[in-house]
Amino acid sequence: MVKTENKQHLLRMLPGVDHILEIMQTHHDCSNIPKSVLVNSIRSAIEGLRTDILKSSQDAEEKKLSEGVMTKQVVKKVQKNIAEAMTPNLRRTVNGTGVVVHTNLGRSILPKEAIEHMADIASSYSNLEFDIQKGTRGIRYSCVDDILCEISGAESSLVVNNNAGAVLLCLEAVSRGRSVIVSRGELVEIGGSFRIPDVMAKSGGILKEIGTTNRTHLKDYEDAIDDETGLLLKVHTSNYNIVGFTSDVALTELVELGSKYSVPVMEDLGSGTFIDFSRYGMKKEPTVQDSVKTGADIVTFSGDKLLGGPQAGIIVGKMKIIEKIKKSPLTRALRIDKLTLAALEATLRFYRDPERALKTIPTLKMLTEPLSAIDARAKRLSVMLNGLNNSNLKISIGNITSRAGGGAFPMMDLPSMCVGVEIGGMSANDIEMRMRGSNWPVIGRIEDDIFVMDLRTVAEDELNIIYDAVEKILQEPQSGLQGQD
Ligand SMILES: *Cc1c(COP(=O)(O)O)cnc(C)c1O
Repeated sequence: MVKTENKQHLLRMLPGVDHILEIMQTHHDCSNIPKSVLVNSIRSAIEGLRTDILKSSQDAEEKKLSEGVMTKQVVKKVQKNIAEAMTPNLRRTVNGTGVVVHTNLGRSILPKEAIEHMADIASSYSNLEFDIQKGTRGIRYSCVDDILCEISGAESSLVVNNNAGAVLLCLEAVSRGRSVIVSRGELVEIGGSFRIPDVMAKSGGILKEIGTTNRTHLKDYEDAIDDETGLLLKVHTSNYNIVGFTSDVALTELVELGSKYSVPVMEDLGSGTFIDFSRYGMKKEPTVQDSVKTGADIVTFSGDKLLGGPQAGIIVGKMKIIEKIKKSPLTRALRIDKLTLAALEATLRFYRDPERALKTIPTLKMLTEPLSAIDARAKRLSVMLNGLNNSNLKISIGNITSRAGGGAFPMMDLPSMCVGVEIGGMSANDIEMRMRGSNWPVIGRIEDDIFVMDLRTVAEDELNIIYDAVEKILQEPQSGLQGQD
């Protein structure tokens, strides 16, 4: 144990803030570092060393601590603190998880054209709410209205901040104080505490559950309809499947029932897509066009799930009911941002030509990429990493299963290829943590005790980033994120 007086002696040797500040300003380029960042970084570095000394059970001699050594340590820590403070908290990551619509990693990557249009609109004034023809005030979401109607076949549309907002808004505007009939098999929770019964309660709609978890019949809906009924709601069971002895009521039948009793029908598609994926060897997800054609009065879906655009809640349907929804005060509260609108319009335009959409919208491209192309990328990464020529490093290629994510195709396995990285003397967990902690974080998976990256969600130009991350780990096996730093 270090004697108390010895610790006191060490603490007295701690460098002062001014001293370190002077060193930083004379020997390091701090011209772009705000003074507050510099000073805070110095304070916290000195404080860190003070805590280390107080906690330490080693003798100063043993640790070879001198004033000079301490100053060096502090300066090194200050540089690290500055680098951290100057790095944005929200930053790019490499998605090696194979989950295409990964909500935690930002869901959808925008097509290049959408980014360019967004940058264009962001950097100057625009006709966001200005009618250029008439020279008068215009309507914010009108820029996507014609294209949405064109590709969905709907009479009218409205876009808001996200689909959760779209559902809340529609329920509020259409069925506040009235009952909304929903099958018990469709009372979904989609994560982030979005649960149909809770959203219903917030909207002022009165939930009327019918049927059972596994089976609901048309008669259940019909029996529940009375003078108080405001809406028949169908919710896409995005993130789960009910299998076995099941039955639900098709939208067609609900639409017939709705018109018989003059009750509007709404379908929350969740993911929502304009593409019939069954034509590309995948399962059939209901398309927006299908729901519109079937006659749903309102259809809601996300902008950034299967659609592959920016975060948005899209509402399409019958003119009369959409006009009513537009008048709700919630519409203003859930207002979509202009950058989102720009990205959304550019993304939607691709859907005029589905083949083009599949080639240009990254989400669709990743979902439908042939296994051979993923395999080729895995091989290229493997060759690159083997080029590191390190006997400690073992690279392997294997089969893996990707997921669509975003509550789409919950049970569908997408066969894919992965690259495994093993490093002698390092556990899979350590590698995972170090890859995650690299300057440009690489997020992978651990399968059979090996750190792997699914190449379906890794772009060609990200292979270099993975290479750099692995190289750094090999060069500095001790540094970086190690649980608690
Ligand atoms: C994802 C989802 C939502 C919410 O959409 P966000 O765009 O994430 O707000 C609502 N309903 C269903 C069925 C969903 O799958």
